[in-house]
Amino acid sequence: MQKLGSVAVLILFALACSFGVLGQNASPAAMPAVDSKTAAPTAPAQPSASIPSTSPAQSTAPPTNTTFNDVLDHLVQREHLFMAQMRHMHPMVETYLQDIKNDSSGNLVPVKDQYYLGRLDMSDGPEDVSFVGQPGFGHRMLTKLTGVYSLHFLPMGFAQMVVLDSDFQKRYYNFNFVRREFLGEIRCLVIDVQPKEGDKTARFMGRIWVEDQDYNIVRFNGTYYPQPKINFFFHFDSWRLNLKPGVWLPAYVYTEESNLKTGLTKTLHFKAQTRLWGYDLKGLSKSEEFTQILVDSPQSVKDQSDAAADATPVVAERMWERQAEENAVERIQKIGLLAPPGEVDKILLTVVNNLLLTNNIDLGGDIHCRVLLTSPLESFTIGHTIVISRGLLDVLPDEASLAMILSHELAHIVLGHRLDTKLAFNDRMFFPDEKSYQNLAFRHSSAEEEAADTKAIEMLKNSPYKDKLGNAGLFLKSLQLHAPDLPNLLRSHLGNSISDGKSVRMSGLVASAPALDEKKLDQIAALPLGGRIKVDPWSDQVELSKAKAVALTSPREKMEFEVAPFFPYLTRISTGGTEKVALSTTSTTPSTPEQK
Ligand SMILES: [Zn+2]
Repeated sequence: MQKLGSVAVLILFALACSFGVLGQNASPAAMPAVDSKTAAPTAPAQPSASIPSTSPAQSTAPPTNTTFNDVLDHLVQREHLFMAQMRHMHPMVETYLQDIKNDSSGNLVPVKDQYYLGRLDMSDGPEDVSFVGQPGFGHRMLTKLTGVYSLHFLPMGFAQMVVLDSDFQKRYYNFNFVRREFLGEIRCLVIDVQPKEGDKTARFMGRIWVEDQDYNIVRFNGTYYPQPKINFFFHFDSWRLNLKPGVWLPAYVYTEESNLKTGLTKTLHFKAQTRLWGYDLKGLSKSEEFTQILVDSPQSVKDQSDAAADATPVVAERMWERQAEENAVERIQKIGLLAPPGEVDKILLTVVNNLLLTNNIDLGGDIHCRVLLTSPLESFTIGHTIVISRGLLDVLPDEASLAMILSHELAHIVLGHRLDTKLAFNDRMFFPDEKSYQNLAFRHSSAEEEAADTKAIEMLKNSPYKDKLGNAGLFLKSLQLHAPDLPNLLRSHLGNSISDGKSVRMSGLVASAPALDEKKLDQIAALPLGGRIKVDPWSDQVELSKAKAVALTSPREKMEFEVAPFFPYLTRISTGGTEKVALSTTSTTPSTPEQK
């Protein structure tokens, strides 16, 4: 026992080194490094205005005799290629929106939220398929949100903002070169773009950043103009990432309105993050080709003597549950909701092993951790697989809080709470992707929830986290405080919600936590969304963000559970290899083979 304890502490130490962000000094500034005072629409790193175009590091830069007019021709051509590519792409699109109001002390706080998840389909004009039981987003925007959020000419809602102009032509616009500027390591030409006078069609108006090798637009920031009479166009900051050699695809859109008059008395004040991922659907639903199947030689498939028996009823039951678990995990990854196995899973597993070792529990190594790619704060178990959402990992302030979330799920496994084994029948997996939330649910009864809480607290009190549970309690307190205003962030789509607005999971830890003090700069109860986990929009792989925490200068910067603008560090994928990308000839379909 003593020995086990010291092993666990060692692992914890190694973890603290490799997972510095989750260490006790974590602060909300694991966000993109932007100083709010200087957060003009410029690159955070180096707002270098005049880099000579013949810089030796840019050997592939265009010849200096390229005229501005040539650049415009190139970029219009690239934008048309972009539109052609997008018709074959079916990424997941998620928008999370927070309504902002001034609270009694004059601070801006989120008071209401909206959530949308769908898959983009531009093959037949703008369309999308909703996962969260709404009609198409555009439809929803126009009906359910009754005017306030309706987006005139924006049938795709927020997803529309990945498109600059579906018919981008030089003759529709006036272009003004502003300067050269780096976004991350990408040198860009910054150009102001305005629709020509008298054009009645709504077109993009704002600023574009064009990388100076192939002239792809990598960022555009502005709105559409002219504004329609009854509705509004929002302002947006839209980013594309280099996801394949030469291919830049939409990844992030930040939208914000601070004082949009929508009627005589109504003013709209909100901020929203739109994220796209799951571009490589083929890779996600990779089924091994028959030619790759190796046929073993007869000797190697010969049964081992001790295993050459039928399964006992106990073993058969375990195998059956395992089959249900594997079916479900495989399916949600294929849809694009679950990140493929990776480094973050291992970090989570280290925390789980700390809990197991210090509690003398042996599950025979049969336990897994995976990351759900969506923003709502949720965690659940599928058999022996613990799933935790990207949004939840983002907002957890420290390792003790992470251990608190994982301990609850681990308790379900230790207590033997069962997965519904109906999923062991493969036909149960034959449903359209957008029906995932109706067909898959990993919820427990309230009795099992309570039992898991009790067991989890017992395990935490034996663990290396036992002296830091006050932090975990503080996180829960902050969650409880914000829960009534952010129901959509807290609504779990696949498991039990952490808070239903009234009660909170693991409430036993709340009482022992210190009082929340919003003014105290060193009290970090929860982080903003988007600071910790980075998703590769092409492969869905997740990794920890490399951004270092910065000291906060005012309580306003705590931004607990809030959305913030995006400032990704842009990089270029080298075209060094022989890989050739012909996206416009590759049709990736959103449907998986089973759902004909
Ligand atoms: Zn639970």
